[in-house]
Amino acid sequence: MSSTLFANIGELVTCDPTVRDGDPLGLMHDAAVVSLDGRVAWVGRNSGPLPDCDRRVDVAGAAVVPGFVDSHAHLVFAGERSQEFAARMTGQPYAAGGIRTTVAATRAASDNDLAAGLARLVAELRRQGVTTFEVKSGYGLTVADESRALRLAHGVTSETTFLGAHVVPAEYGDDVAGYIDLVTGPMLAACVPHARWIDVFIEDGAFDGDAARTILRAGMAAGLQARVHANQLAHGPGVQVACEVGAASADHCTHLDDADVDALASTGVVATLLPGAEFSTRSPYPDGRRLIEAGVTLALATDCNPGTSYTTSMPLMIALGVRECGLSPAQAVWAATTGGATALRRTDVGHLGIGACADLVVLDAPSHVHLAYRPGVPLVAAVHAASDDADTHPDHTSEGSRP
Ligand SMILES: [Zn+2]
Repeated sequence: MSSTLFANIGELVTCDPTVRDGDPLGLMHDAAVVSLDGRVAWVGRNSGPLPDCDRRVDVAGAAVVPGFVDSHAHLVFAGERSQEFAARMTGQPYAAGGIRTTVAATRAASDNDLAAGLARLVAELRRQGVTTFEVKSGYGLTVADESRALRLAHGVTSETTFLGAHVVPAEYGDDVAGYIDLVTGPMLAACVPHARWIDVFIEDGAFDGDAARTILRAGMAAGLQARVHANQLAHGPGVQVACEVGAASADHCTHLDDADVDALASTGVVATLLPGAEFSTRSPYPDGRRLIEAGVTLALATDCNPGTSYTTSMPLMIALGVRECGLSPAQAVWAATTGGATALRRTDVGHLGIGACADLVVLDAPSHVHLAYRPGVPLVAAVHAASDDADTHPDHTSEGSRP
């Protein structure tokens, strides 16, 4: 058993609504936290009697938030597309087909190169306070390349997502049905051992609603859980498909009608906002305030990918969520922690209630508000993750989790 006391916390964001009478952020001032074998074992007043611990970390009055949960990231790829970004910033629109550029580079890359690129991005996420993250495939689009991406991803996270249905690869031409047969047949079989989730990019230029239903149902029949890319570039059937199949999350949710908002609210499917994509494509942002007012659960995630959101910064997503999506700072921080965990059907991360993974981010700031108030400033001073504790391998406690 090893215990650590985090003392002298000026403002503690627990995201535990029992701490302060229903306040979703569960704010405490003058706080201390005890981690015991990687789990939160005690939360209380710093000025009161403090438990004896093996180790003491004094954060000198700083704010502490739960480790961020990035529930949407594409981290296994080769190459980069800065020229495409530069062209877009001079007036060319984004179309889903740009993904094929990265597919070609990824197929040509060695395992070692892909693993090195993945490790670099994971380190970036970590430096910005992310302690739990999802990784998708989707830049291989062959049986061997998709299963390779997921095998590499599974080496860095248990939240791995099979996204063979990212786009139809060039070699299939107009034979969408033929590619769907591959995705739902041999590709799915090769990827299931390395994946927890299945995802479909539902958009003009990618997959339509009927294709998505077929692919998601095949994945669910094979034991995967569903999440989707929905309503990013235009209004489409994505959100309705997500709600129909019982997906954990509908991601992007930029172009929604009232029926979509109602469906998200009534089914409990999380709406994951990815404002890095709107930032990087100079597009209108999703209306987070409308969703919250309708009772929809929101997550914020990076969508880190080389085409449309090449950033690993959850603090930037919080700032954009506030400035561009209409969220309050508290709502944005909640969406980046508990919201992300909910989008991954996790109850053990994204908050600092008793029994949660002791994933703590110490800010170089007195309040969580600074994450939005001081955009672009590196405010993550230290990251303490439960998985750093020797001999500690936190298991998932939520339904449907994998060992
Ligand atoms: Zn994405």
